[in-house]
Amino acid sequence: MKKLPLHTKILIGLVLGLAFGIASIQLGWSAEFTVNYIKPIGTIFVKSLKMIAVPLILASLIIGVANIGDISKLSRMGGKTLMIFLITTVISTSIGLVLVNTFKPGKQLPLETRENLMSLYNSTAADKANVAAGIKSGTPLQPLIDIVPENIIAAATDNSAMLQVVFFAIIVGIALLQIPKKKGETVVKFFDGLNDVIIKLVEYIMIIAPYGVFALIASLIVEIAGDDPQKAWELLTALLWYSLTVIGGLFVMMLVVYPIMLKFFSKIKFLDFFKGMRPAMLLGFSTSSSSATLPVTMELVEKKLGVSEEVSSFVLPLGATINMNGTSLYQGVAAIFIAQALGLDLSIGSQIMIVLTATLAAVGSAGVPGAGMVMLVIVLESVGIPTAGIALIVAPDRILDMVRTMVNLTGDAAVAVVVAATEGELTHPKDLED
Ligand code: ASP
Repeated sequence: MKKLPLHTKILIGLVLGLAFGIASIQLGWSAEFTVNYIKPIGTIFVKSLKMIAVPLILASLIIGVANIGDISKLSRMGGKTLMIFLITTVISTSIGLVLVNTFKPGKQLPLETRENLMSLYNSTAADKANVAAGIKSGTPLQPLIDIVPENIIAAATDNSAMLQVVFFAIIVGIALLQIPKKKGETVVKFFDGLNDVIIKLVEYIMIIAPYGVFALIASLIVEIAGDDPQKAWELLTALLWYSLTVIGGLFVMMLVVYPIMLKFFSKIKFLDFFKGMRPAMLLGFSTSSSSATLPVTMELVEKKLGVSEEVSSFVLPLGATINMNGTSLYQGVAAIFIAQALGLDLSIGSQIMIVLTATLAAVGSAGVPGAGMVMLVIVLESVGIPTAGIALIVAPDRILDMVRTMVNLTGDAAVAVVVAATEGELTHPKDLED
């Protein structure tokens, strides 16, 4: 296995995990074995990646901002980055809306299946609604209030409070730009060193990546199948059109929108971009977490795509927290699908409202598994679709989460390339051979 490139090893892990999962269902192997002895390898792998997410965001954003050198460059680059994040998110949600309105997957859901799903997942839908109620309780400006941490140490211990860590890191970076260079130097050097240590840790963690991915996929399949594989399969096929609409939209983002962005603003060929990003995309797919994949995304964007550390350490931690093209597309499709299945007609005004709220909800979704589905509640409520409708889309969500996470981080990488290219910070990709 040693000489194979990382993405091939991860791919082998993924395929073997898939094969193991399917074989264990077909041959009736005990699910307990997989859950007790295989899943933990995957859990250890994901935990080790998450372990370094907070220090990585802190260190890389602080030095990212501090290294930009002056406030005017920072505001230009920051403004540009946020603008591209916003535009790509609106585009992705709109693509989702066009597809779901064209193919109308919700109208094809048989009444009986709809009733089945509603009774089966009613409590899950209620849980999500409760979590979302906690998120949006308070004033309309609550999301703004939530960005500011009350206690940075507490925020740093909560992976879903990443936006607060981002906020803290950015203002510390700005402060470092404004205090005498001599004093700031030590702090910058410290975080610079910490950053290098974390990159080394990523290398260690990548040694177990193929085994981790194998375990994650094998246990996922066994868990989805549950006690009644036949029933799980029926539910998944009943929701096939919906799932295909989401996945189709996600592929439009990856194969049309990002290539156009790259062609327009940089000299990087899409194929090279894709080749360079393969390991991160596979990890995003296997872990369903853009925060956990961030260390790998950063390394590849710098080493394989030639984006300067200055740009990557600013754009990517921010992107992994707030730029989620895949999630917003999924939320748009899911909202309209639920409305269609429940026989609700949505006006153009409501559809525009969905684009707006899905864009905001995607910003608020943490880069962890399942976050997008919780924030979907807010999209549904904004246009008066019953939140219990979430019960209709729970079954395939874990699978769709994998694909949308892959798009989320690919989108971040594409924006990093565009920002770097327009800032003159893109060097020729060094090695694409792995
Ligand atoms: N799992 C996604 C991510 O980490 C968020 C989501 O649930 O859509 O990017």
